[in-house]
Amino acid sequence: MERIVVLGGGESGCGSAVLARVKGFDVFLSDRGAIAPKYKSLLDQWDIPYEEGTHTEEKILSADRIVKSPGIPDKAPMVQAAVKKGIPIISEIEFSAPYLTASTICITGSNGKTTTTTLTYEILKQAGKKVGLAGNIGESLALSVALNHYDWYVIELSSFQLDGCYRFRTDIGVLMNITPDHLDRYDYKLQNYIDSKFRILQNQHPEDRFIYCADDPLTIKNLPDHPLPMRVLPFSVKKEEECAAILREGVIHVSLDGKQVNVPAAEMKIKGIHNIYNAMAASLAALSAGVDPKSIEQTLRSFAGIEHRLEPCGTIDGVDYINDSKATNVDSVWYALESMTRPVVWIAGGTDKGNDYTQLYDLVKDKVKTLVCMGVDNSKLTKAFAGRIEHIVDTHSLDEAMTAARKYAKAGETVLLSPACASFDLFKNYEDRGRLFKEWVASHKS
Ligand code: ADP
Repeated sequence: MERIVVLGGGESGCGSAVLARVKGFDVFLSDRGAIAPKYKSLLDQWDIPYEEGTHTEEKILSADRIVKSPGIPDKAPMVQAAVKKGIPIISEIEFSAPYLTASTICITGSNGKTTTTTLTYEILKQAGKKVGLAGNIGESLALSVALNHYDWYVIELSSFQLDGCYRFRTDIGVLMNITPDHLDRYDYKLQNYIDSKFRILQNQHPEDRFIYCADDPLTIKNLPDHPLPMRVLPFSVKKEEECAAILREGVIHVSLDGKQVNVPAAEMKIKGIHNIYNAMAASLAALSAGVDPKSIEQTLRSFAGIEHRLEPCGTIDGVDYINDSKATNVDSVWYALESMTRPVVWIAGGTDKGNDYTQLYDLVKDKVKTLVCMGVDNSKLTKAFAGRIEHIVDTHSLDEAMTAARKYAKAGETVLLSPACASFDLFKNYEDRGRLFKEWVASHKS
């Protein structure tokens, strides 16, 4: 019996272990850290042997194949040892692929994955398709494949999940954009990260679709390096030629095989150019999946966005508070600031990921009157914006930052939490940071 060893006992790893069990493999799961109680009970329920707090070499290196969770870097010693022994290491998505009977829409990119994946899923669901949501979002694909039967899956794929994909092929691949991120996992070489994102189109057949942003410089630059046997569907807000989705006089027009989706951007609840891109990509994916244009238009209008992404969370003394805690890189902050229509008190900072803030200088000049830095060490941020923003305040906790933001914001202005940084210096994760921001606003509303 083939032995599958799963490294990592989180959502992805435990899902893979259950699928391996359901498919009759000899399965073992190992996590060097602690496994959360809900995952332990899942493993117990399926009678899957596991270890935590350690990696036992002989139990792991006896594997025929290893399924590695996306959070574990290739440099981890146990992964290196398995590579040296020649054991194939694959991702959860690759492992699940042979058992998939559903068609797939897979969405990747540096920014906009979760919004576009959720929107596409909502469009298919509202249109009555039997559709599952999986990947980097909610339930793992492996667990869902083990337990459910759908006709379609909408799957969010990070570069880490794509890295372990070799034979996996998607019916409809979507690449939102590529901007530098996670370079620590790619030997600080941008090209490695770009190549990883382009794995979304590997193995595609002529009848498949590849949806991409024609305005994204890194996508366009790298496209000629890849064979494109599939049907390509570019979208753009800047040009019209050869694009399947365009923006004309504020109206999103998407067309495919004579079917047309037309929605004025102002009629959507989600705002900003980035959400126009997200709507275009989701519409093209949905049209490709055979959804009726009217149904797509309806969901584009009703979709209210997701938590921690430019989420309006209340008004205090005429000041609007917006939670964009998920903006953990500079590019996402660019789009957040770009979408602001009132003067901004901008809360930013946290764990820097090698940020280059120069691309924000023009926008900041127009839109930001106060920068509240919120982090253990704010020196890089303070230095980057010194002389470019009227007031810069140095704070080291959420409470301090909120008090400062409230002090500087006047009626008619907006306090925007859009940090450009990871959250781990002061918070558990970006969700914790966003939740505390919202709680503060709720408790200070009159
Ligand atoms: P991801 O899942 O790729 O991290 P999200 O949909 O969660 O993307 O959005 C994360 C942040 O990125 C949001 O806070 C928003 O400000 C910004 N964003 C969303 N969509 C896009 C896009 N298409 N292009 C650039 N930035 C975006």
